Amino acid sequence: MTHSDADLAAYVEELTGKGVRLVGGSVVDMGGVARAKYVPTPRLAAFHRVGMGASPCWSVFCVDGNIAFTPELNVVGDLRILIDPAELRVVEDGVAWAPGEFHDQGGGSNDMCARSALRRTVAAAEDAGLTALVGAELECTLLGPDGGHATSGARSPYGLRTSLEQAAFLADLAESAAAVGLGLEQLHMEYGHDQLEISLSPSDPVRAADDVVLARLVLGRAAARHGMQVSFSPYPFAGEVGNGAHLHLSLATSDGPVFGGGTGTHGLTTTGESAIAGILDALPGLVGVYAGSVLSQSRLQPGNWAGAALCWGLENREAAVRLIAGGPSSAHGANVELKVVDPSANPYLAVASLLGSALHGIEAGLPLPPEVPDDPAGSAADLPSLPAGQAAVLDAFAASPVARAVLGTPIVDGLLAVRRYEVDTFPDPSAPEVAEALRLAWSC
Ligand code: GLU
Ligand code: MG
Repeated sequence: MTHSDADLAAYVEELTGKGVRLVGGSVVDMGGVARAKYVPTPRLAAFHRVGMGASPCWSVFCVDGNIAFTPELNVVGDLRILIDPAELRVVEDGVAWAPGEFHDQGGGSNDMCARSALRRTVAAAEDAGLTALVGAELECTLLGPDGGHATSGARSPYGLRTSLEQAAFLADLAESAAAVGLGLEQLHMEYGHDQLEISLSPSDPVRAADDVVLARLVLGRAAARHGMQVSFSPYPFAGEVGNGAHLHLSLATSDGPVFGGGTGTHGLTTTGESAIAGILDALPGLVGVYAGSVLSQSRLQPGNWAGAALCWGLENREAAVRLIAGGPSSAHGANVELKVVDPSANPYLAVASLLGSALHGIEAGLPLPPEVPDDPAGSAADLPSLPAGQAAVLDAFAASPVARAVLGTPIVDGLLAVRRYEVDTFPDPSAPEVAEALRLAWSC
């Protein structure tokens, strides 16, 4: 959206009146790390109209701070990060933030812009008569100032005690989330040691991905006020529980929701069946987006409730796709949860891939594979498998026609450059030193 001079002047006046001195705009790179530029508040119009400059190689910054230059993404050239002032939220005393988008110097959208790729996918779904809602879950691990565990008490999965011990922080978090308009469905200390989960309210897909960045920011700032840091690593401590970033998707046509109210298994409609089939069909080629980092494979294993099995099932927490049926206990209606995703994924690319693969299934009329109604580890079903190991995950991603159709070849190639750098740089991904080195890589 473009704003008039008068609108922009009004925004500056409003922000200044709230004590906002700095305005930040962030983009998320191919390795899943959010990066930002800031301007003094009176420069808001420039941030909106001409944008702030960034080298094209911002897209291939790596999780350890190095750069995986490619012939196209190198030291020559300039991109502009533009923000929409209507999206600004005051995230810290004196500081407002908005999600940014990469544009070319000529003003057009840049083909490495993850948020634009998601907007294109949403438009394609709308053209096909589909409305999508996405809800993100964020798992993370609370750390002390030294980067180790925040607490030394005994681990107590979903403990009444462990949440109460963090009550001051969690109350601060709830208040901060409300203040920036972030919908929190629930929050609790989770299964792992100092592991926290927050679930965000469903929104349109672009807002849902923006909210993941905003939620990490709000979590990080609230934790800092309580002397802690937050790890969004998929595998923060070797040998311990991993962090997921599950995504819930609901879809509706003009006839109503597609994952409920139909005549198929568990109330699925034919469209809903094909959407699940599409998500599963494209999944081996999209693990590179959802869980493509050097640490992702250590989490994405059977028994971790991470959805490592290439199948679907009603309320099946080991299946890649868990169907949540509609009914009195489902506040937001029937939806599917993709459990494979971890927090090293770029949320815009992950949501675009999920929605785009559902759309691929619907357009191709793919049939629903048989349900796996029990733990896939003990299931009699002969399941196809996901690629194993980061290198194989990336080869499958490189060969995925859905990835290229949904994200575009420049993004696919940029993501491959960054993740293949990780393969070369970290030959022993399960080593404790790798978990330690990258523990704060995805924190905001
Ligand atoms: N921590 C698990 C993961 O890595 C998820 C546990 C759950 O189902 O909440 O995905
Ligand atoms: Mg969880």
